[in-house]
Amino acid sequence: MTAKIIDGTKLAEQIKSRVQKEIKETGLKPKLSVILIGNDSASQIYVKKKHDACQETGIISDQHFFTEKAKETEITDLIETLNKDKTVSGILVQVPLPKHFNEQKIMNLISPEKDVDGFHPINQGKNVLGQDCFMPATPLGIMRILESINIDLQGKNIVLIGASNIVGKPLGLMLLNKNATITYCNKFTQNLKDFTVKADILIVAVGKPKLITKNMVKKNAVVIDVGINRLENGKVVGDVDFDKVKEITSFITPVPKGVGPMTVACLMENTLKAEKQRRGIN
Ligand code: NAD
Repeated sequence: MTAKIIDGTKLAEQIKSRVQKEIKETGLKPKLSVILIGNDSASQIYVKKKHDACQETGIISDQHFFTEKAKETEITDLIETLNKDKTVSGILVQVPLPKHFNEQKIMNLISPEKDVDGFHPINQGKNVLGQDCFMPATPLGIMRILESINIDLQGKNIVLIGASNIVGKPLGLMLLNKNATITYCNKFTQNLKDFTVKADILIVAVGKPKLITKNMVKKNAVVIDVGINRLENGKVVGDVDFDKVKEITSFITPVPKGVGPMTVACLMENTLKAEKQRRGIN
């Protein structure tokens, strides 16, 4: 069987169009403030993509760039100012931060109502409890992908490879809240294949090319590849041996053009949500 390849770019366009339409119809003026520290080339690309998506949807893009030498107090002062600024709907600090910054301390300073990246402990805690909150954009994008293929998550065996605070861990909780059975694997998991072959839905967020090979995947499984790896020849690939694995799956996301565009689109969705909540609109 040949897998259906999920078109993340197309799904992301649909989400961005919905956001754009709502902004146009309501006259709301959501604003996303993005803070970038240092000159990490991948981070610069992500920030540019977020800026472009703001332009597309009609969200005001407010960018703050700092060199690696910036002091932590400069960032914390700016966050406090943005928290109080009534024109700002959402605040995002691009990670990873340079080593001398205390990442969690910075994230914790962002007002939970403006935490459109969903990294604040309040939002992460609400996710644990299944309450409405800002869900991190990548896991939210994956939920939207699963919705798009109309799969009933209840009772499904879902295996997550990679359990970071920004992808695997919150995503597992969102899926658990949909009554799926969740298994988390990490770099210390022994005999990874024993787990992966049982997955109806296999989600991989590690950062290792070809970590998942065809013999590790159950026939007809849905495979979501979150990994982004740049090879020496410049090609960008995921964590799954895509060409071989797609031969046995029912659905699979490619890299690029799978989860990546959905992350950016869901950030736009979260920014509009923040603006609506601020104005008491449901
Ligand atoms: P991370 O480094 O914070 O976490 C990696 C996780 O993988 C950890 O839980 C670790 O224990 C686990 N792991 C490492 N080696 C493993 C192995 N051999 N077997 C099983 N588990 C293993 O990474 P992250 O920030 O969660 O990102 C993971 C990947 O997803 C990266 O490639 C990153 O670029 C990508 N990513 C993509 C998007 C997107 O929008 N597409 C967003 C975020 C991250």
